[in-house]
Amino acid sequence: MDLQSYKAIVQELKPFGAQLVAVSKTKPVEDIMALYEAGQRVFGENRVQELVPKYEALPRDIKWHLIGHLQTNKVKYIAPFVSMVQSVDSLKLLAEIDRCAAKNSRTIDCLLQVYIANEDTKFGMDAEELYALLDSAEYATLKNVRVCGLMGMATNTDDETQIAAEFASLHGLFTEVKQRYFAHAPHFKEISMGMSSDYKIALAQGATLIRIGSLLFGAR
Ligand SMILES: *Cc1c(COP(=O)(O)O)cnc(C)c1O
Repeated sequence: MDLQSYKAIVQELKPFGAQLVAVSKTKPVEDIMALYEAGQRVFGENRVQELVPKYEALPRDIKWHLIGHLQTNKVKYIAPFVSMVQSVDSLKLLAEIDRCAAKNSRTIDCLLQVYIANEDTKFGMDAEELYALLDSAEYATLKNVRVCGLMGMATNTDDETQIAAEFASLHGLFTEVKQRYFAHAPHFKEISMGMSSDYKIALAQGATLIRIGSLLFGAR
């Protein structure tokens, strides 16, 4: 646990108005608690099986973000409490989140995950799939999810020019989608991009949420 780094990152984000999601996957509840005591309230996990026991063990005012690939059959376990699902990559998944949110009398905030990397290992939709989702008749019927923006992961590379171009493309797509579908929806405001290795580039490209794990909690 590196509280020094935590404080430095929080200061670094301030002028950008960006929010830190502390990615605590694989780390014990003691580590999360240490960061909680330093003031952090938003945490990200990528697996449902890990998120649920941590939710149960930790203070209730933590805002939990699911940031990893989510299978539709697992949505029901997190629907009672999850604050945001950042990794929505299909209409089917969004519809299931809507169904489970309704069962819990909740509205769940979601980000649509967009594929921006030049790798074939990452999840997410391309622009065409994103527009197909937003144009679909089924999407128009969903009442218990709120699409708040887009999420993306850059290619794992040292080439900062490429990373910046990928983040810029996500920002460009965000602006287009905002104009076309959410012009009068102030909640559509989030661009989640940037991790430990590339968050500075993401901030320069307009990130509003950055997801940092290893810089805070140490290597996994
Ligand atoms: C693990 C993870 C992160 C954080 O990665 P670090 O390199 O440890 O900062 C961010 N986003 C997603 C989707 C992740 O799975």
